[in-house]
Amino acid sequence: MVGCSCPVCLSDDPRNTRFRTHIHLEIGDLNIQVDAAPEFRIQAVRHSIPKVDLIFLTHGHADHILGMDDMRRYCDMRNGGAIPIYTTEEGEERMRAIFGYAIRDKPVVRGYPAFSLKQMPEELDLDEAYVCSTMQNHGNFETLGLVFEEKRTGAQIAYYTDCASVSEEAEALAKGVDVAILDGLRYNSHPSHMTIDEAVEAAGRIGARQTYLVHMTHDIDHASAEKALPDGVRFAYDNLVLEV
Ligand SMILES: [Zn+2]
Ligand SMILES: [Zn+2]
Ligand SMILES: [Zn+2]
Repeated sequence: MVGCSCPVCLSDDPRNTRFRTHIHLEIGDLNIQVDAAPEFRIQAVRHSIPKVDLIFLTHGHADHILGMDDMRRYCDMRNGGAIPIYTTEEGEERMRAIFGYAIRDKPVVRGYPAFSLKQMPEELDLDEAYVCSTMQNHGNFETLGLVFEEKRTGAQIAYYTDCASVSEEAEALAKGVDVAILDGLRYNSHPSHMTIDEAVEAAGRIGARQTYLVHMTHDIDHASAEKALPDGVRFAYDNLVLEV
């Protein structure tokens, strides 16, 4: 954390140095970005992400949206074609407020980004995947919870970040997925995020083969805190790559 000298912030364990939360999915030929944290560019370069076909924006908070401008290179690679962003009404409003210059069919000038905004439906049928959504409580407003299913293999991933709880609907949608990624902020309660205990409890209800907690604060020392997690639940860390 900025200006903090607690043992976690000073730790040599790279898993205690945390970028903001987002994920990238490769499903068949599709490259899907879910949220674009301010560090998107750093990680896109590091992981040699070749393209972005489609974006999902869970909500418009700064930690999830401020990397969007760096999609400019991927727009250029598709000859300036706008990249579709599926999001909520709140997400659309934030995109227009921050990236108004880029909400258009083609970039203003070559090299600028361009996005087409789309309301996320309950179920999206893509060539290679189904994407189901549910609205999650994030304090004063709602965020998108997403479940991805690869058509070819049936592999499923649930991505429930920035939520104060996992609703019954969200639980049913994610039941038995291969991988669940859940908001687990810290030990003390918070009005718009789940605590570690609440996330572990939700993980038990969902029953994924493997659950990863994300969005942790510096309350969490990765190595020691992970020992207290039940089987099948772990903390995610920056640059973690999974094959499902
Ligand atoms: Zn700290
Ligand atoms: Zn948020
Ligand atoms: Zn967040």
